[in-house]
Amino acid sequence: MDMITFEEAYRIVMNSVFETDNEIVPFTMSAGRILAEDIICEMEMPPFNRSAVDGYACHRKDLYDKMEVVEVIAAGQVPSKDVLKNQCSKIMTGAIVPDGCDIVFMVEESENLQNGKIRFTGIEPKLNISYKGEDVRTGDVVLKKTRFIKPQDIAIMASFGHIDVKVKKMPMVGVLSTGDELVEPSVVPDLSKIRNSNAYQLLSQVKRAGGEGMYYGIAPDDEEVTFALIRKAIDENDIVLLTGGVSMGDFDFVPSVLRRAEVKILFDRVNVQPGKPTTFGVHSKAVVFGLPGNPVSSFIQFETLIRPFICRMMGHNWNPGRQNLPIAKRYERKSSDRMGWVPVLITKNSEVKAVDFHGSAHLAALAEADGIIAIKTGTNIIEKGEIVSVRQI
Ligand code: AMP
Ligand code: MG
Repeated sequence: MDMITFEEAYRIVMNSVFETDNEIVPFTMSAGRILAEDIICEMEMPPFNRSAVDGYACHRKDLYDKMEVVEVIAAGQVPSKDVLKNQCSKIMTGAIVPDGCDIVFMVEESENLQNGKIRFTGIEPKLNISYKGEDVRTGDVVLKKTRFIKPQDIAIMASFGHIDVKVKKMPMVGVLSTGDELVEPSVVPDLSKIRNSNAYQLLSQVKRAGGEGMYYGIAPDDEEVTFALIRKAIDENDIVLLTGGVSMGDFDFVPSVLRRAEVKILFDRVNVQPGKPTTFGVHSKAVVFGLPGNPVSSFIQFETLIRPFICRMMGHNWNPGRQNLPIAKRYERKSSDRMGWVPVLITKNSEVKAVDFHGSAHLAALAEADGIIAIKTGTNIIEKGEIVSVRQI
């Protein structure tokens, strides 16, 4: 099978998207999910002319006369007195402005006179009224479907009493590591072994992307065991992520096992650094990504291919945050025959620096990075001061 470009791989992956179903959840549980309905305003906001300050409500034409206070209106209370000429009502923030009053002057701009009378002492009167319906009108769409639900959206749902909300089901993502050299993090590795860091990083990435991860353990470099675990993971998930075993080593069984499990492989090499052996296949039950064992490679492949895929499965077009900033010093790479993803950090002066990176197993470099930049095939130098697009990770 031919090696393909990253753009081609992205296109193939995105063309294999199938959407998840909808489900109803309590609005309090919906932050971080993808909205599956338009939320329509069922009442005007504010629902009445509301005082924006603590002060006195009156008629503007009386502002420079002494005024008699007819009542005190607390927030949550309905006014009971008409405000007539040279009268006012003391009013609290959030309370209903009495009919006919067209200004509320602040307590700070008032003076108490004798006989309970009040005088405006300010210079430039402000109206200080939030008018009924000025924020949203009945029938307005306040939150559009496919959006990522933010804490601010929860406030909107609360204010409209939208207590049950339709969201997209989270894609189920099975994660399986392969390799005889791997032990679980709780185990002290013998010489020749390493701890499985990849699977736990991926499970956290799945969670951050809005998917629901499930761990299937470490498959030894044994074809039968790997086959059984892959079959089970395919049966139980929408997406299966395998790490390791996709290179050209003597014990890299993943491609042959995938074929045996009736996964149609759409690509098995991408012209990208790191991440060349990335494999992608489709099955009637799930799609399968075979990722390089190296944790930096698999991290980057997840962010650039799998995270957009998970979001699109929920109907959401995810855009990673980006910042366009200059490179702090000339960057050079040895070979330019692949597209590169370079982990970078942003300095205090808002300049971009490639992190000190010793190949795709260098976890500390990745942890230090604020983002990644893409460097095109055929380019091996970025000059100092050149603007690059830092993609947040
Ligand atoms: P592989 O893709 O199986 O050839 O593995 C490439 C490199 O990544 C090897 O050095 C492996 O030891 C390492 N590696 C493989 N799987 C993991 C994992 N789950 N966690 C950390 N390192 C891994
Ligand atoms: Mg391996």
